[in-house]
Amino acid sequence: MPRVLIVSNRLPITTEVTDEAITFTNASGGLATGLRGAHERSGGLWIGWPGIPSPLPEPQRAQLAQQLRDRGIVPVHLTGEELREYYEDFSNGVVWPLFHYLLDRLPLGPTAWETYRRINQRFADETAASYQPGDVIWVHDYQLMLVPGMLRQRLPDARIGFFLHIPFPAAEIFRILPWRREILQGLLGADLVGFHTYSYLQHFSVAVGELAGMDPEDDGVWLDERRVQFGVFPMGVDAEYFRQLATSTAVLDASAELISQAAGRTIFLGVDRLDYTKGIPRRLMAFEALLRDDPSLHDRVRLVQVAVPSRETVASYQDFRKDVEELIGRINGAYGTLSAVPIHYLYQSVAPEQLVALYRAADVMLVTPLRDGMNLVAKEYVASRVDDDGVLVLSEFAGAVDELREAVVVNAYDVDGLTAAMRQALEMPLAERRERMRAMRRRVAAYDVHRWANHFVGALSEETPSERRAMPEVMLRATIARLRELSPLAILLDYDGTLVPIARTPAEAGPDAELLELIAALTRRPDTMVLLVSGRARDTLDSWFGQLSIELWAEHGVWHKRTGPSPWIPALPVPGCEWMEATRTLMEEFALATPGAVVETKSSSIAWHYRLAGRGLGRAQARELRVALSRSLVGSEAEIIEGKKVLEVRPRGATKAAVVQNLLSRDPSPAGIVAFGDDRTDEEMFAALPSNAVDIHVGPGASLAKHRLRHPAAVRTFLTALLN
Ligand code: UDP
Repeated sequence: MPRVLIVSNRLPITTEVTDEAITFTNASGGLATGLRGAHERSGGLWIGWPGIPSPLPEPQRAQLAQQLRDRGIVPVHLTGEELREYYEDFSNGVVWPLFHYLLDRLPLGPTAWETYRRINQRFADETAASYQPGDVIWVHDYQLMLVPGMLRQRLPDARIGFFLHIPFPAAEIFRILPWRREILQGLLGADLVGFHTYSYLQHFSVAVGELAGMDPEDDGVWLDERRVQFGVFPMGVDAEYFRQLATSTAVLDASAELISQAAGRTIFLGVDRLDYTKGIPRRLMAFEALLRDDPSLHDRVRLVQVAVPSRETVASYQDFRKDVEELIGRINGAYGTLSAVPIHYLYQSVAPEQLVALYRAADVMLVTPLRDGMNLVAKEYVASRVDDDGVLVLSEFAGAVDELREAVVVNAYDVDGLTAAMRQALEMPLAERRERMRAMRRRVAAYDVHRWANHFVGALSEETPSERRAMPEVMLRATIARLRELSPLAILLDYDGTLVPIARTPAEAGPDAELLELIAALTRRPDTMVLLVSGRARDTLDSWFGQLSIELWAEHGVWHKRTGPSPWIPALPVPGCEWMEATRTLMEEFALATPGAVVETKSSSIAWHYRLAGRGLGRAQARELRVALSRSLVGSEAEIIEGKKVLEVRPRGATKAAVVQNLLSRDPSPAGIVAFGDDRTDEEMFAALPSNAVDIHVGPGASLAKHRLRHPAAVRTFLTALLN
């Protein structure tokens, strides 16, 4: 196991400073428990804020530093003002409501973005200072979204992971943030970006496509130099801890006490930080409606609501608390009796034994957030129900719902629906309760917080495809040395994406002076044939390369022009093109309905380019067009090929493989071949090459080629090295 550096806002300890001493206690939260294993077993470091604003007076500062070092902890010191701006104002004041879709909570005034950036830099600097080659770095959560990018700049080869513990919102919501691009760039500094659910991952992927102008796949994105993998890692709880606690005498006694106090009433339970995302007011209103609609329930149900104090210095949390408490007062006022009130409200945190006793006593657990990254309370309830009883009412807006399908699933915004769910829970027969709870408990026990942490660190430690395949320096040198010995040597070059980066429009992609000079130098090399094998039309290649003495192949091998002043000749018998008219009509129709798409007509083929179309629309239309084309091409001599953001219809057999066959049939045939390409059409060329040829795929994506270079610049470096 590599050494793991964990980077999170808070440390897994609670610090208390008095005049005499500094004391630490281990924090009990799920994150701390889950990561402690990885931290301790790997002999790693944990980098975070120790929980007390700096500056501390000197003797204590040194003492603190020493004690933290002994525990493998690196403190990041924050002043009271930094903490307020970076943590309260920006992280909790802006990112938190926005990522939970609560736009009305966003502040109107200026925000503390600059401080957020500066403190992220401080975390990155502290981490980089502790880093040793071979370490893996795991950064956590929305307070530190810029850290991966900042680390990448300082440590280009480090293995960096990021996990987001809150939801990633739909791209249309995310784009509201004025700093959306900086945040995406920050996250994409990681090698692995993890989320609780697949839908958060998809939202992120769409945001990367739409807002960062990249072209992600479902599970990751290729940047110029490297791949960023996206993954789903639903965080679990320490199920074994809850199971044991739930069967301890202390908990059994406490829960028996709670049940006897309820005197036969059905116990509903809510346990939440007092946060406006948790859906507490609507839950209370639904409970009120339950009582209002059915007077026979008045003395038969009780709601225990534990509200853990949270972010008490933030004004919107103070207002929210007032609203909740007024609502509870109103309901208790209306439905209480001299001997009992329907809602027992605790504004305090409760000890673990008491919490689990509540879980065990509760007939119905109400977890109804408006939006919640995961929600661990739901899983803790399930893990504690070793008796396989109890009903979980769970919001469809909590990440946990993906794994806890057997819960009574509710729309937490729908008060009537919530009331109906409460009634359903009240009436659910024992056999059904057991069946549902058993299924959920199996899952919660199997994928616990330790599995979660190991799964993430395991995925982060794996090699990425880019490393597996990109040619290492030694192999590059050996390959070039071998090619230098072979004579005559044929060099097959694709153009777009291979010698120049893919441009936004086909017209913007002309060769630069440096490239023309490089190709000219290759043609002066003794016994060297240079073949430019492109999908482009003849006149384009003429205008770009006509003055060079190289062989040109246009339209993926349909047309061939020998070195020097020779005419274009068809390399294949150009077949009848009766399919062309219908194809053009279809493509033009689709182009009209797809802003940004263009049709390119060549002598033997027609292409539909959608690089400039909106990402989602472009893809969807390409899919539709493909279906329409295949229908219209039935029985014809043509086939559809898909390239990068292009659909092309061409005569069957007009492939770059024909170029290779032509080359191999010459006398003398070349002693060595090196071929470069980046696209689907180049795969046909690679497939036709003899096994001793050197085939090189350029850029991301799967390929038949044995070698990979990362981008056109690397191809140019390779060719230059071949010359010297
Ligand atoms: N919890 C706590 N003190 C309490 C009651 C609960 O620390 O008095 C814990 C609870 O056991 C759970 C966590 O707080 O592990 C809440 O996590 P959750 O994912 O449900 O919500 P979050 O607070 O992270 O939004």
